[in-house]
Amino acid sequence: MDYLMRQAREVAQQQFGKGIYLRGLIELSNVCRNNCLYCGIRCSNCHIGRYTLTADQVMACCEQGYDIGFRTFVIQGGEWDEQRSPWIAELIQQIRQRWPDCAITLSLGEHPRETYAMWREAGADRYLLRHETHNRRLYSLLHPQEMSHAHRLQCLDWLKELGFQVGCGIMVGAPFQTIDSVVDDIEYLIAFGPHMIGMGPFIPQRDTPLGRFPAGSVDLTARLYAILRLAMPMALIPSTTAMATLAPDGRLRGILAGANVVMPNLSPTDTRQLYALYNNKASLGAESAQGIKMLADELSSIGYHIDWSRGDAPTQP
Ligand code: SAM
Repeated sequence: MDYLMRQAREVAQQQFGKGIYLRGLIELSNVCRNNCLYCGIRCSNCHIGRYTLTADQVMACCEQGYDIGFRTFVIQGGEWDEQRSPWIAELIQQIRQRWPDCAITLSLGEHPRETYAMWREAGADRYLLRHETHNRRLYSLLHPQEMSHAHRLQCLDWLKELGFQVGCGIMVGAPFQTIDSVVDDIEYLIAFGPHMIGMGPFIPQRDTPLGRFPAGSVDLTARLYAILRLAMPMALIPSTTAMATLAPDGRLRGILAGANVVMPNLSPTDTRQLYALYNNKASLGAESAQGIKMLADELSSIGYHIDWSRGDAPTQP
């Protein structure tokens, strides 16, 4: 394990030095039309209050983030019906006009190709859509019947064709996941060649059908970061919030396994607890944009520092 981690770190440092890219995460809405069996914002969870930020609130989050030094905004939320897609396009345009030097990342689920094209045209640069698993049987155990594994993969192909920097990935230790299915995921990731790889441990959410399954492991997630860093040296790999939620040193363990991105929360503080994907989700301290000094101190304790640039995916020489 030590050898694997050391090799992964060396490869990450050859590519990115000891700088860690920042992304400011804005959780746009916990309204979702989907009913994923593991997710706290699934549409049939009636135990959470629903919210959607206004465009003004999103702009205020970006403004605060820009002043702190963020140059990437990630707009993430539940999956909405298509009639709201033009509203998102307008929001993207507003952010793009106001902060032309920033990257705009979306993570808003599955949509028709035309919608993705409209958002790209409006100025979005990147899109995160975890494939969740490449194993069709496992996909069907984690999602309701009306959701299709083939469609999720199709969306990823569209996003790439449209020129987005694309991120995909999995929940590690999801219920019913096996090592064989994780190996399938590694093979898919290498074949698809995403710019970003979003992976975090599964964490149960008490009001979901899978809420009694055990959480995934920080160790296995870190091991996967390391393996994928070695397989894909240029990939942008965040050390995710779920890592920080499961272990106090989870974020740093991810970085020491070759991850090179962190995504502090820029959402308004009063909506953070409503974006309850899983139990006890971290959103304060070094996990929040306001705790940036704490994050910088944490990073420097292991010899790393914040890289304040936009942090685009490096291109193949
Ligand atoms: N709706 C968009 C989508 O489907 O991609 C973005 C929001 S979705 C909540 C973001 C990610 O949260 C999912 O891709 C999933 O991997 C992760 N997630 C949801 N529930 C989780 C849980 N219980 N434990 C860990 N990760 C979870």
